[in-house]
Amino acid sequence: MKHKAVLLGIAGILLAGIAGWNLSAAAGKDQRAEISVGRGYVVGGVKLEEGKYLVLHKDMSAHEGEACTFFYKMPYRSDKEPVAKMRCTLGQGTEVKEFTLRSVTQPDGTSAVRSIQFPNSTEVHNFGAGS
Ligand SMILES: [Zn+2]
Repeated sequence: MKHKAVLLGIAGILLAGIAGWNLSAAAGKDQRAEISVGRGYVVGGVKLEEGKYLVLHKDMSAHEGEACTFFYKMPYRSDKEPVAKMRCTLGQGTEVKEFTLRSVTQPDGTSAVRSIQFPNSTEVHNFGAGS
């Protein structure tokens, strides 16, 4: 009987190890942040309403040409359509502590989003002038 108890203990440790590995693999692929957007921001050709959004970046490196960055109006639901989506060009920058959104003021007074950066990341997601 004592022998059986030891075997069960080993199985339990293995299971916990696998579950932890799955979690960290998923976290390394998709990045997300909840942000507040002020008035007049344009992203992917779409003028955003003022309010809270979920920004989701999917690792789509294997799918050239497909959108990888999605803006969802909060509250987010997985079956909700994104308000805006576009393809980014990855660049490297200095690590930021908070979600960072860089924009350029346009002649009509709106702010065109040029790049976003997720917290604790050095990856800068750039959006082209044409998007
Ligand atoms: Zn991207």
